[in-house]
Amino acid sequence: VPATSDVTIVGAGAVGVTLALELAMRGASVTLVERGAGPGAGCSAGNAGILGATHVLPLAVPEAVWEGLRHLLRRQSPFALRPRPRAVPWLARFVVAAARSRDGSAAQVMRALANESLARHHDLAKRFDTGIVERGFLSVYETPEAFNRALDHLADPAAPRQELLDAASVRERCPQLRQEPSGVIFAPDDPHCDPLRFVTMLAQAAVALGVEIVTGVEVLGLRLGGGRVHAIATTAGDLAVGRLVLAAGAWTARLAAGLPVAVPVQGGKGYHIDLAADGGPEVKAPMYFPERRIVATPLDGRLRLSGMLQLAGTDLRIDRRRVDAIADQANRLLTGIAQRPVLEVWSGLRPCSPDGLPIVGPVRGVENAFVATGHGMWGLQLAPATARVAADAIEGREPDELAHAMRPERFRGALR
Ligand SMILES: Cc1cc2nc3c(=O)[nH]c(=O)nc-3n(C[C@H](O)[C@H](O)[C@H](O)COP(=O)(O)OP(=O)(O)OC[C@H]3O[C@@H](n4cnc5c(N)ncnc54)[C@H](O)[C@@H]3O)c2cc1C
Repeated sequence: VPATSDVTIVGAGAVGVTLALELAMRGASVTLVERGAGPGAGCSAGNAGILGATHVLPLAVPEAVWEGLRHLLRRQSPFALRPRPRAVPWLARFVVAAARSRDGSAAQVMRALANESLARHHDLAKRFDTGIVERGFLSVYETPEAFNRALDHLADPAAPRQELLDAASVRERCPQLRQEPSGVIFAPDDPHCDPLRFVTMLAQAAVALGVEIVTGVEVLGLRLGGGRVHAIATTAGDLAVGRLVLAAGAWTARLAAGLPVAVPVQGGKGYHIDLAADGGPEVKAPMYFPERRIVATPLDGRLRLSGMLQLAGTDLRIDRRRVDAIADQANRLLTGIAQRPVLEVWSGLRPCSPDGLPIVGPVRGVENAFVATGHGMWGLQLAPATARVAADAIEGREPDELAHAMRPERFRGALR
């Protein structure tokens, strides 16, 4: 049976949906296959919604390794790199990447991608009403050590615009803070949005351009032969494919198992707790508490508290103790938390690559297969630049520097 579309994409998260729209705008016919009930069924619906470029950096840095080791045994820690046997190859790659990160090249790639993405987010917002909110982003440092480290980064001329707030501006902008912090840095150009709205609006725009979104259908495996993927085996039978993109987030490693390249993504589990608005003045702009890795994002009618990064494979189970830890810590930081009704507790799996860079591009050795995953902590922010890079690859264009840095075949060797 010939394929009915030029391109089939597996996974309707921020990455898959943004790519489907980009390809449709370039004139391709696209089918998007999603096992959930609708777009955004994975990690993309419930994240913190931060679209700014300021904090988009790879996770694989030496500090993260030390932080991971320090927190190994603490259940309430915001960051857990527990060495489950299946995660050992990933951790080995992570430690190597962290050691190599000293040259700063991965950070430069992330910065360039994030800047491109931010410009594209503004454009998408104008055209498709994605609900971007431009009120900036506040980083609130509790300890002088963390604040001083942040000040070192401020000196980076390539970093987005940031302002140090004096005590009066902190009180004015963050009246909910319980204690005077060591310092607050404001990034005025960092917008945010409701991530589910972003995915939903782009999916609607894609459908209007002819993209077929098949929901409730799970892809079970790939049918390979003669150096190409002929079809995908799904819960609704086989589906012939023209070009195939695996954009299945943290589940992409499993789907890619039959391919000649490894796609080493591990789920980095995080949580959100949505609290109802309490009628009082709401947090004005998203606030980040770096020492605790907690973000408080004001969304329509709710305040979203998100945090925690725990290497979890594909285990989405909600650990009540970790959720309580986020609520407890937010309550210690901000007034007006404990009394608000909880609207939703959610867990999501960040698709984390071991070197912290996305894994995007053609699969060497399989002529029609492509991968678009590995965005870790920043898949919503990075989706538009990823869509551009992946669509260029699908059209057969020569990779530019960013595309080269994200190429899947950088993960050579036996480790899967
Ligand atoms: C607590 C938390 C806060 C975050 N905050 C931010 C933030 O502020 N800004 C930011 O940019 N990023 C943030 N992130 C990260 C961001 O959410 C992810 O990087 C992003 O959602 C990944 O998008 P994706 O499309 O690759 O994956 P997903 O959204 O997980 O999409 C993959 C899709 O594939 C589907 N799928 C999987 N397997 C199959 C299969 N076999 N067949 C069919 N369909 C399949 C899934 O159902 C899913 O819908 C946060 C994450 C967490 C957990």
